[in-house]
Amino acid sequence: MERRFGELNPPQRLLMGPGPSNVDPRILRAMATPVIGHLDPAFLSIMDETMGWLREVYETRNHHTVPISATGSAGVEAMMVNLLEPGDDVVVGIIGYFGQRMADVASRTGANVRVIEAPLGEAIPPERFEEELRRKPAKLVALVHAETSTGAEQEIAPVAEIAHRYGALIAIDCVTSLGGMPVRVDEWGVDAAASCSQKCLGAPPGLSPVTFSPRAMEVITGRKSKCQSWYLDVNLLFAYWGDGKANNRVFHHTGPITMIYAMREALRIALEEGLEARYARHRKAHEAFAAGLEAMGLTLFTKGKRLPMLNVINIPEGIDDLAVRRRLLEQNIEISGGFGPLAGRVWRVGLMGVNANPAPVITLLGALEQALVEQGYRCERGAAVAAARAVYKQST
Ligand SMILES: *Cc1c(COP(=O)(O)O)cnc(C)c1O
Repeated sequence: MERRFGELNPPQRLLMGPGPSNVDPRILRAMATPVIGHLDPAFLSIMDETMGWLREVYETRNHHTVPISATGSAGVEAMMVNLLEPGDDVVVGIIGYFGQRMADVASRTGANVRVIEAPLGEAIPPERFEEELRRKPAKLVALVHAETSTGAEQEIAPVAEIAHRYGALIAIDCVTSLGGMPVRVDEWGVDAAASCSQKCLGAPPGLSPVTFSPRAMEVITGRKSKCQSWYLDVNLLFAYWGDGKANNRVFHHTGPITMIYAMREALRIALEEGLEARYARHRKAHEAFAAGLEAMGLTLFTKGKRLPMLNVINIPEGIDDLAVRRRLLEQNIEISGGFGPLAGRVWRVGLMGVNANPAPVITLLGALEQALVEQGYRCERGAAVAAARAVYKQST
């Protein structure tokens, strides 16, 4: 065999960082089916199904619900560039790295960005949005639902209620939460939401599911200036995906056929399981994992409401962050370190999609205990795995 053209041979990893998570074999099989044209009538019905199932996962009746052809960041950017015009006021809630990024993206639209912050690991009390909007109105309130850098959940419904009472729209980054915990777009009154394919939905990275409420669409169609981004212009995107009225589809860009197959299969898996069962499975994995950590003498960083799918662990004194992660990777287990101020201080462990299950949780606890003990960490051997197993033995 010609060595110069070696076959692609990536390692088999257990992906327990903040995404991508492991991909269900059903999704990989869907991706191996034939590529057809992006305006083929057969593909148009696949698009319609995908939109319909995405509405179910987002718990919304919003027609304007599609996967954007790029990763989660593009969906967040799409919300900002479509909803904001130069000179508009936007209030951004910041509880970590991804909130900061939202503020950065918003500022690039020429909008006037006002921020509300909370200490890392906590959420913003909803009243603070009310104080800020009472002080000065805004067109949009934007915030992260599941802050992946700190493991904190920001409650959305009360903030949405406040935003609407003060005449503002609300846009959320639910990149980490969608498919792993409730994101109840209509019940909460969310006007725009953006997520990704590779975290709790468990498909490969490459798509960003977004949804826009009729109220958001009214604001978008009433813009004075053109959306700064041609690629992310929601009006152009829905000329291709279908605006819900005319049934003609206008070419915008070539739909990433294979990724849309992947998204369709990921949504099918989620809906077959049932959303509430899926949320409960993620919750249970978190409880088992947290019980295991506690039995090992480890503590969680997050002080506010903790996310089930993203566990942020304090690195114990005297333990080398990189050495532990290297040791785990040697056993084909990936976890992640901290961002910015939390670098070297925490590990971030994702329990997403197929990994929110007993086997991955127990495998990681065993391997983490071993890696820590090798560094001189003292704990009762086997206690972590036993504690996690005990949680799984309890009825749900
Ligand atoms: C992962 C993540 C993103 C970025 O998504 P990509 O798919 O990597 O572009 C944005 N926001 C949050 C909260 C995330 O966790």
